[in-house]
Amino acid sequence: MTDKLVHRRKSAYTIQSGRCYYCGLPMWENDQKSFARIYGITTVQAQLLKSTAEHLEAKQDGGSNASDNIVAACRWCNSRRHRRKRAPDPLSYRNLVRKRLADGRWHSPSVIEIYRRFVFAGQIPPERSTACAPSGT
Ligand SMILES: [Zn+2]
Repeated sequence: MTDKLVHRRKSAYTIQSGRCYYCGLPMWENDQKSFARIYGITTVQAQLLKSTAEHLEAKQDGGSNASDNIVAACRWCNSRRHRRKRAPDPLSYRNLVRKRLADGRWHSPSVIEIYRRFVFAGQIPPERSTACAPSGT
């Protein structure tokens, strides 16, 4: 990944308050172990919530590295979108992910638990990043 792309991913991560563009779950940039500890998941599970640079218009469809084409998405959502021959458009994919997540059919059960406890319950204030541990747990 180029330095520019890393920089754009980091800035998207900050703008999105450390949450995945698609599933809305908290992600981590540097500290996988602390992230796993804070959310009560294993480091292997945490690997799937690593922040990655996501091209809204897929690279294979000619999408560029321009900042308006880059968002931060968790590794899980990013890789699933590009598994298909033709990546679904970002908005349809996001709706699909949110629907599956609400139905408990996206991410593993312990990761879905993060969604239930912290995201759905609104315990992660949108302006805070994952660097901050959720309070009251
Ligand atoms: Zn995600």
